[in-house]
Amino acid sequence: MTLWNLDHTEQQELLARFLRYVAVDTQSDDNAACYPSTEKQKDLSRILVAELKALGCADAAMDEWGYVMATVPGNLPAGHAVPVLGFLAHLDTYHATPGAGVKPQVIRDYRGGALPLPGDPGQTLTPAAHPGLARCVGHTLVTSDGTTLLGADDKAGIAEIMTLVAWLGRHPDFRHGDLRLAFTPDEEVGRGTEHFDVGRFGARYAYTLDGSALGEVEDENFSADSATFTIHGHDVHPGLAKGAMVNALRAAAAIIAQLPPDRLPESTEGREPFLHPIALQGDVARAELKLLVRAFTEAELAGLEAVLEAIRTDVEGCFPGLRITLEVKESYRNMAAKIAEDPRVLDFALEAVRRQGIEPVRKAIRGGTDGARLSFMGLPTPNLFAGGQSFHSVQEWVSLEWMAAAVAVCIQLLSVWVEES
Ligand SMILES: [Zn+2]
Repeated sequence: MTLWNLDHTEQQELLARFLRYVAVDTQSDDNAACYPSTEKQKDLSRILVAELKALGCADAAMDEWGYVMATVPGNLPAGHAVPVLGFLAHLDTYHATPGAGVKPQVIRDYRGGALPLPGDPGQTLTPAAHPGLARCVGHTLVTSDGTTLLGADDKAGIAEIMTLVAWLGRHPDFRHGDLRLAFTPDEEVGRGTEHFDVGRFGARYAYTLDGSALGEVEDENFSADSATFTIHGHDVHPGLAKGAMVNALRAAAAIIAQLPPDRLPESTEGREPFLHPIALQGDVARAELKLLVRAFTEAELAGLEAVLEAIRTDVEGCFPGLRITLEVKESYRNMAAKIAEDPRVLDFALEAVRRQGIEPVRKAIRGGTDGARLSFMGLPTPNLFAGGQSFHSVQEWVSLEWMAAAVAVCIQLLSVWVEES
């Protein structure tokens, strides 16, 4: 079996691309109604279109929403049909951690131990807090200076896809089917697929490069609902309140106090579900409490919502005269069911990781991805590792060797599809 290790020059080009992309501020905005949520994401879109054209993707273009799409035509002999594959990564960075003025720190030949971040004496990467560091001794690592996120989420994925395109251009004898590429805005605010035209994209299967450590392949994500309690109390002058006032805020506090302590994000991990109160506003007369409901199975999701309904009934009973309504809305669903309908898209990814000599690690994402929504839009899209760690944090970091391995796995994946089709 051939290992597609990038050579030194290709790795340095991958690093240079990554450093170019993280220098562009592409932070999305959770509060904006427009699309993309921030115009500046298109700055990176324009750079990528120009670079794709220079790499030979004649049809590379950005649309009005900021989506970049491009094609790498296949080179298989006539009569050998392979499904069109898509590779996606997102342009934006997390909205709640500073993303402008990223000053990357490149550590060549990491020797182990703590890594101080030069821009903030209070920020040091330690092997205790970042267990992945111990696996990366001898690697080239990139961090921020500690005052911003790095943006490996997901500019590592973008740099890897661009490097894949460059590699295919340099290896015209390497046989593969048609590829479609897309870079998408607003993933971090849950709107990455809002204007994504699956038909125009034209891929039959796709992969997001938006995962983390070496070898990870994710075909599962949370099923997610949002729940809102609306609490109707009764306000009167507090001096005259005895037997008349019904305080909606105290009822909201009672609801929060009744949430099961072993079903919170702070107390769960792995495949455990949770209820997560995220916003409370109101006054004596009326209060509104919002929660996230997250689980990997529909049964667990229904179980959590039954818990909320039981709390609603109980708290209403404790406050005579109070009325509480509970509204549950669907956010997104676990893509595992969609992937399982045609498991080759997952099996081939695991096989590609193995062919590169890496032990695949199947993981379930405790969140949602663009791929989850795409899977339900008819484009099965598991998530592949991109090499970054501690996403959304000023301590975010990435290994260049893991990024190079992600490119190699994509190359392997193209071969698997050709051989198995
Ligand atoms: Zn991401």
